[in-house]
Amino acid sequence: MKKVVKFGGSSLANAEQFQKVGDIIRADVTRRYVVPSAPGKRFSGDEKVTDMLYACYAKAEEETDFSADLAKIKARYDEIITGLALTISLDKEFAGIEENFKAKAGRDYAASRGEYLNGIVMAAYLGYAFVDAAEVIFFDEDGNFESDYTNEKLSERLANVKRAVIPGFYGSKHDGTVRTFSRGGSDITGSIVARAIHADMYENWTDVSGFLVADPRIIKNPEVIETITYRELRELSYMGASVLHEDAIFPVRKEGIPINIRNTNHPEDKGTLIVESTCRQPKYTITGIAGKKGFCSINIDKAMMNAEVGFGRKVLGVFEKYGISFEHMPSGIDTMTIFVHQDEFEEYEQSVIAGIHRAVQPDTVEMESDLALIAVVGRGMRATRGTAGRIFSALAHAHINVKMIDQGSSELNIIIGVKNADFETAIKAIYDIFITAQL
Ligand code: ASP
Repeated sequence: MKKVVKFGGSSLANAEQFQKVGDIIRADVTRRYVVPSAPGKRFSGDEKVTDMLYACYAKAEEETDFSADLAKIKARYDEIITGLALTISLDKEFAGIEENFKAKAGRDYAASRGEYLNGIVMAAYLGYAFVDAAEVIFFDEDGNFESDYTNEKLSERLANVKRAVIPGFYGSKHDGTVRTFSRGGSDITGSIVARAIHADMYENWTDVSGFLVADPRIIKNPEVIETITYRELRELSYMGASVLHEDAIFPVRKEGIPINIRNTNHPEDKGTLIVESTCRQPKYTITGIAGKKGFCSINIDKAMMNAEVGFGRKVLGVFEKYGISFEHMPSGIDTMTIFVHQDEFEEYEQSVIAGIHRAVQPDTVEMESDLALIAVVGRGMRATRGTAGRIFSALAHAHINVKMIDQGSSELNIIIGVKNADFETAIKAIYDIFITAQL
């Protein structure tokens, strides 16, 4: 049995948190590969080391003095090293970083140092080998992650290393330039390592006890999701539920490795298990609710649209021309509605409308802005009658006007469009009918 354990920034923010992490790792001998983030916030209002590095490097690029900023970053690590009573020193590392900053080694290089240094500290603390991610995680010339090549090299490298620390968030291009994933990318590294070593489990340790059924900023103390499938998770994270980086699913999914989201501050909690498929019945009909604001809809009307072959393609071609991706496209006999992100669309609005007129000569094109989309996700919906009915009666009771309904063919989710202003009330109404009413 082999586990990969990834710890987020808040789990490694100071020596005390490091000790909790050490206890967790030592409590299970199968926790053999450790992927750390950079130190996060120690208290609300504190700065993440990654953000400090970005700011410090910005000064280096402008050729203003950044030595005080770099010293502050070093102090964060020194505090951890002293707190853990380690004897290592990062003086040499910091001298190298200072030089590389002066030589303008790049923003990605700068940000990656947060994880790199934390990896060195973690390896020393645990007595594990340190494997620099730049030597085992690869990006192509354009900066795209090279999944299969990385998998091959990383498996080879770790084959004879029983216990190792591999810093999260970055890798390198073939010319040696450091490249990072997008923010929160250590989750992806954990998943890549899990795939490479054929882990039995990828544990992702953070500061919450798993995925919540709904956003805690909207619902007070929402229930934790016990088990969720990759597909459900993808639907929810796409709609804004964030605990795990969206792209972290793909590498482990290929291998069918489950992910367990755990809480470093409450290791006794079971957290959320993310799996390919499961026969475990979900506790409630729905698994989760998530949503996003800031959409607008373009409603196209044309008599006999249904008989016009190629109508949809021509309309979508206009959006494609301006690089706008659409979210949903419900249609009627003579109508077609396209949902897009308002901020992406605004810039091209008039060109798109003119383009649609030219392409398909519609009778009318109307737009509605400030819409929100809510996804109600659950594998349990397929086998349950009346889910849609319950959602819409709950929304009607809350006096919410439903603007759009879209049920994916997977029957895994129902997407509901409402006005931005109704967003929170709608989520509360749906949560109450499925969760609170059953507690
Ligand atoms: N430290 C990086 C960030 O803050 C990556 C990570 O924590 O996953 O985005």
